[in-house]
Amino acid sequence: MSAPVMEPALSVRNLTVRHRRDGREVSVVNNLSFDLLSGEALAIVGESGSGKTQAFLSILGLLDPGGRASGQALHCGRDLLAMRRGELDELRGGDIAMIFQDPMTALNPSMRLEAQLTEGPRRRKKWTRAEARKRAAAALELAGVPDAARRLSAYPHELSGGLRQRAAIAMALLCEPKVLIADEPTTALDATVQAQILALLAALREKFSLALALVTHDLAVVAGLCDRMMVMYGGRAVEIGPVGDVFSAPRHPYTAGLLASTPRMESARPGAALPVIPGHPPEPGNLGDGCAFAPRCPFAMKRCETTPPPLDARGSNRLAACHYNGEISPAAFHAQQRTNSPAPTADASL
Ligand code: SF4
Repeated sequence: MSAPVMEPALSVRNLTVRHRRDGREVSVVNNLSFDLLSGEALAIVGESGSGKTQAFLSILGLLDPGGRASGQALHCGRDLLAMRRGELDELRGGDIAMIFQDPMTALNPSMRLEAQLTEGPRRRKKWTRAEARKRAAAALELAGVPDAARRLSAYPHELSGGLRQRAAIAMALLCEPKVLIADEPTTALDATVQAQILALLAALREKFSLALALVTHDLAVVAGLCDRMMVMYGGRAVEIGPVGDVFSAPRHPYTAGLLASTPRMESARPGAALPVIPGHPPEPGNLGDGCAFAPRCPFAMKRCETTPPPLDARGSNRLAACHYNGEISPAAFHAQQRTNSPAPTADASL
């Protein structure tokens, strides 16, 4: 019997996000297309500035003034990018919710938890104050906040960082979203609280069959929590596939470089330099004519400087954007780094 086909909870096509910087318009997300399937956890991975957060802020209409998005973001047949402000307000915090990096900035410091958790849901769901309060206490409890009913009277600064993030998760869950976007939800927390929050997200995703988009730079989190991953570089998707397959056989040198740069206890030697991808991510608006990763790629060929690689199928369920046809693995990435000069070599694929 064939496996059931999962429907996309969010289908993004040709998303481009532009901002005005220094008097000119630059693209921070370039022609991005991907599906977030119902019930799956999709990791969005890449260095700072790769466009991960900007993509999701644009989908929810949360770009800074001067930012603008084009393309399509379909949810239940409706294009979020074409919605009027009021329609998007209804959807945001309802069907689609987002958890931000830093709960201290996501929560309003001048409002008690009850007011900020219940304000939107009361308007959307027409709950009475008592009903909203009861549901907010239940959501806090579900998110692991002890003494939940009493905490509704607290201000954010009266809570620890972990409890603030749990409160932000409770706020996101209150209207029973179908899609939850979590943008580096554990970055501001210490290691033990990080693990608790990630376990909570995994449990909630299972309990409510959420489609979870997890924006992160932490590959250990991806391995522990996610079904598929999309690797972004220079505002573009460069690799998409199931987590296990991408980890065991990356199809893009940037993915291999990220995997190769992950510190491992078993191979760590005191005093030895940690492996890195040399160089820096490209400046938005300055991606070059060919592959944006070419200046840092040990497999780069002449062709890579002039021709951007399309995001093509690589076997079933895999996509990658790369001209190179040889072995790509963390070990091959290191070996090629050692033997190659940084300058592009002759085109080995011609
Ligand atoms: Fe880009 Fe070429 Fe390196 Fe592939 S081999 S990542 S196309 S520079």
